[in-house]
Amino acid sequence: MAKKQFKAESKRLLDLMINSIYTHKEIFLRELISNASDAIDKLYYRALTENNTGLNRDDFAILLEVNKDERTLTVSDNGAGMTKEELESNLGTIAKSGSLAFKKENETKEDIDIIGQFGVGFYSAFMVAQKVTVISRAFGGDQAWKWESEGADGYSISECEKSGTGTDIILHIKENTEDENYDEFLEEYRLRGLIKRYSDYIRYPIRMMVEKSRPKEKAEDAPEDAPTEYESYRELETLNSMVPIWKKNKSEISDEDYNSFYKEKFFDFADPAKVIHTSVEGVVTYNALLFIPSKAPFNYYTKDFEKGLQLYSSGVMIMDKCADLLPDHFSFVRGLVDSQDLSLNISREMLQHDRQLKAIASRLEKKIKGELLTMLNTEREKYEEFFKNFGLQLKYGLYDGYGRNKEMLEDLVLYYSSSEKKMVTLSEYVSRMKTEQKFIYYACGDSVERIDKLPQIELLKDKGYEVLYLTDDIDEFALQMMREYKEKEFKSAASGDLDLEETKEEKEKIEKKTEENKDLLTFMKESLGDKVSEVRLSQRLKTHPVCLTSGEGLSLEMEKVLNSMPVDQKIKAQKVLEINADHAILEALKEAYGADEKDRVKEYAELLYNQALLIEGFPVEDPVSFSNAICSLMTK
Ligand code: ADP
Ligand code: MG
Repeated sequence: MAKKQFKAESKRLLDLMINSIYTHKEIFLRELISNASDAIDKLYYRALTENNTGLNRDDFAILLEVNKDERTLTVSDNGAGMTKEELESNLGTIAKSGSLAFKKENETKEDIDIIGQFGVGFYSAFMVAQKVTVISRAFGGDQAWKWESEGADGYSISECEKSGTGTDIILHIKENTEDENYDEFLEEYRLRGLIKRYSDYIRYPIRMMVEKSRPKEKAEDAPEDAPTEYESYRELETLNSMVPIWKKNKSEISDEDYNSFYKEKFFDFADPAKVIHTSVEGVVTYNALLFIPSKAPFNYYTKDFEKGLQLYSSGVMIMDKCADLLPDHFSFVRGLVDSQDLSLNISREMLQHDRQLKAIASRLEKKIKGELLTMLNTEREKYEEFFKNFGLQLKYGLYDGYGRNKEMLEDLVLYYSSSEKKMVTLSEYVSRMKTEQKFIYYACGDSVERIDKLPQIELLKDKGYEVLYLTDDIDEFALQMMREYKEKEFKSAASGDLDLEETKEEKEKIEKKTEENKDLLTFMKESLGDKVSEVRLSQRLKTHPVCLTSGEGLSLEMEKVLNSMPVDQKIKAQKVLEINADHAILEALKEAYGADEKDRVKEYAELLYNQALLIEGFPVEDPVSFSNAICSLMTK
C-alpha cells in the first residue's frame, strides 16, 4: 500500500510556532542575527574554497536600521542570499532548515560555525512584526526576489530590485497593545542591549547608524570664553565585540582584561579572587571562563541567590543561569561556558539532553577543586580569605547528601587549631598526629576564645594533643557525615571516653576513687534526676572543678543547634556531670555526705550542675534559685 503523507495544518502550526515556543519575544533579534551570520558564513566559506569570488572577510557585515516613522526594523546581511526557490523552500516551509542541510554537506570543513538547525527561528519575527518583508538576492544571480507575509495567512513572492548580494529582513513592528510594548524594538538603546546580550560574539560586525553628539567647531572670531556648542551627527557603530575573550589566546589576555570583563559582565565592583580559563577538546568540546569572586554577594547565603553559569552555543547566548553546570558546593563560581556540542531544544533556550551538560559540569567541578587546592597550597593567605567568604558553603556541601561530596571537599575545609593557633587543613592535622593517636579531636563552641577555655579540652591540651575548634553550627554535623579523614575518626573533646593511651594509669586511679565514692556519686545522680544520665569522677579535668560531657550519640553542641531551629519537639543529648577528683570540691562533697547532711550534698550537686551548664554555653534552667543558692552559701 502506498504511504500517504501527513498533512500539517500549517496555519495552526505557524501560530503555535510563533506564540508558544519562546518565552521571550526579544529573542527574535537573536534568531535573525544568527541567520544573517549563517548566510555570511556560507558565502565566506565559498570565498575560501573557490577563490574566485573576490570577497574578503572584512567585506562582510550585518546592518540594523530603524525607521520610526514607518515602524520598521531592518536586519540586512551581505551573505549568500536566497534564490526564488530557496525563498520558497526555506521560508515557505516550516521546520525546513537550509542551514542544517548546508552544515551536513560541509560537515568536515573547518572554520564554519553554522548556528541554524531547526528551521523555525525565522518565524519568531512574527512575535513582534505584523508583516515581514524579505528582499533577497542570491550570490551569482542578477534577479532579486521579495517574499512577504503577515503570518498565518500565507506568503507571496514577487520580483524586485536589490543592488548587492544578500538579504534584507524588514519587520513591520506591531502597534503597542494594552499589555505589550512593541515600540521598544524601535529604540536604539534596546536593540543595542539585545545585541550585547545575545549576539555579542557573532563573528561578523553588527552595525547600526547611531545618533551621536560632538562639540561644534568655534568660529574664528568667537570670544575665548564663548560656551561650547554641540551638534548631533549620525555614525555607523559596531555593536558587538565579535571575538569573545574566552576564545582568544591566553597569552594575549592580560589580568586587566579578565578583571574588567568580569566586573562588567557580572556586575561586581571588586576584581575576582581567581580566574579559571580553560579549553577542552575531546568527548565534549568547550571553552569555559570562570571566576571566583573576592567577596560573597550580600544575598549569597539566602534563598534569593541563584547559582548558574552563562551558556553559549557557538557564540550565541542560550541561557543566562544554567544551574546544572555548577554543584551547590561551588555555587559561588560565576562565569560562562561556550560549546558547539550541545543539543539545544527547538527554542534554543534550553538543552535537549543533559548528557553533554553533565559531562561538562563534572569536568568543571574537578577543575574548580583543582584550582582551589592550588590556591590553598601556593597562596595560603588568599585561600583563607576565600574560605572566610565561602567556606560555609563547602561545609554545607560536606553535610549534604550523606557525605557523597566527601572526596571532593574534605581537603578544602579549614578549622582553627589549638596548637597552631591558626586555620589548618585536615591533612595538616593528620600529618602532625602522634604515633599512638587514634582520633582527630575537635571541640565546639561559639567562638575560638570560648572553646579555648572549655574545661573538657584541658587534658587533651595538657597531653599535647591538637584540637580543632569548630565554630559554625554545621561543623559537627558535617564531620559526622564524613565520619573519618584518611581513616582517622573524628572525636569530640566532650565525648565520654577520649580513649587516650598515656592516661591508662590515671584511669585506674580514678576507677579506684570512684569505687570509694560510689554512694556519694549515686546519691548526686539521684538528686539531679533525669537532668543527667550519670555523675562521675573525671579523667579529663586538670584545674576546673566540673564539666559536662555527652554520652553516645547526640552531642551537647548538636542539641544546642537542633533546638535553636523552629521545631516543636525539643531534643536532649545525654549529659554526664564530671567532677574533678583532685579538686577540693570533692573533699567538700565527701565531708557533707559523711556528716549525713544530704540536703547540703543535694544543693552542691545542683550548683555544680548549673555551673557546668554555664561553662558549656547552655542557659541555667532556673536562674533565680541558682542565684539564691549562691547567696545562701555566701552568707552561711
Ligand atoms: P534555521 O536557522 O534553524 O535553519 P530559520 O527558520 O531561522 O531556521 O531559517 C530557515 C532557513 O532560511 C535557513 O536555514 C536558511 O536556509 C534560510 N535563511 C533564513 N534567513 C536567511 C538569510 N538572512 N540569508 C539567507 N538564508 C536565510
Ligand atoms: Mg535560524
